[in-house]
Amino acid sequence: MNRKFLLYSLLLALTLASCTTCKQEQTCEVKPKNVILLIGDGMGLPHVVAAMAEREQPLNMERCTHTGLSKTYSASHYVTDSGAGGTAIACGVKTNNNMIGMDKDSVPAESVLEVAERNGLSTGVVVTCGLTHATPAAFIAHQIDRHMSQEIALDFLTKEVDVCIGGDRAAFEKREDGRNLLNELKDKGYTIVNGIDSMMAVKEGKLIGFLQGNAYDIPKMPERGDVLPKGVQTAVNILSQNDKGFFLMVEGSQIDWGAHANDMSYLLQEVYDFDEAVGKAIDFAEQNGETLVIVTADHETGGLTLVQETPDGNISWQEMSSYGAARPQNRKYIAKFSTTGHSGCMVPVYAYGPGAEEFTGIMENTAFKNKILKLLNIQ
Ligand code: MG
Ligand code: ZN
Repeated sequence: MNRKFLLYSLLLALTLASCTTCKQEQTCEVKPKNVILLIGDGMGLPHVVAAMAEREQPLNMERCTHTGLSKTYSASHYVTDSGAGGTAIACGVKTNNNMIGMDKDSVPAESVLEVAERNGLSTGVVVTCGLTHATPAAFIAHQIDRHMSQEIALDFLTKEVDVCIGGDRAAFEKREDGRNLLNELKDKGYTIVNGIDSMMAVKEGKLIGFLQGNAYDIPKMPERGDVLPKGVQTAVNILSQNDKGFFLMVEGSQIDWGAHANDMSYLLQEVYDFDEAVGKAIDFAEQNGETLVIVTADHETGGLTLVQETPDGNISWQEMSSYGAARPQNRKYIAKFSTTGHSGCMVPVYAYGPGAEEFTGIMENTAFKNKILKLLNIQ
């Protein structure tokens, strides 16, 4: 009897306990109004661990309250490329490597960004590669091959993406068909600017910002400067003016490039830069209260492992080096790459904010779209 009473009291106390997110009763279910999805291209778990090992301060990614793992294989290959990987995340379908925004039978699939736009939410992409590159393209374009940058650029005209920040101005203005898409986009109401300072001065409306002024390529860190976190801030300032909410995709594009080069210094600086962008997103989510932040990767690049300095006491640094190891100073491990390509390992998923609990456990990379749409209550 006494035990039963205690049990009932405990259940009652649990029911009345307040929700940690909204400080209201537990029965309330806070749904996100805004979603910021950050993709570290090629960012496997070892890339994150290496970045953690380098630093005394925790990464911003560690501020996320929920973690999971994503299976990255594509329809055609166990080891995906960024076209199929981005398409799976954006459109919720497994497709063949190289394909953008369509399933393996070449049927276009609507992306989470497109569904958000169709439902009146504001949308944006902020990347440190060309806007026509595979990952951003997977959210905006529908093409059979990721390398069709001319056609992918044309797909931007069929959308109303509110904020596009990245590179590859050439695909828009130095075109084989002679068209200047930037003029056409201006006619559609876009403000088009070059360089991060000009972008930050734009406070409303539709924006296309090219990160490198008149240059076509975006340099790596640290030459590039903090354009990615600033780009995220710029996008969030504009997109958050919509009462219906927004969807923003942010990509740390060059983590992948550093890993392809088996260059630990390049890779790490790109992870830190991406993590600064994650920090901007979480800062906004923290004060906004209605924003879900998801951090993940499209695949792992480099087949990276972290091993002890002298694994068996015999292998010297120089010997390791010939296998592609790197050993910057102050490091307690040796980074060793097993490929200059991608690997098939699962990648981490981190989430913060209302709905974050949906992103735990082991999931297919095709699960993101529907989880996000369900939480935003749109279809
Ligand atoms: Mg990419
Ligand atoms: Zn890659």
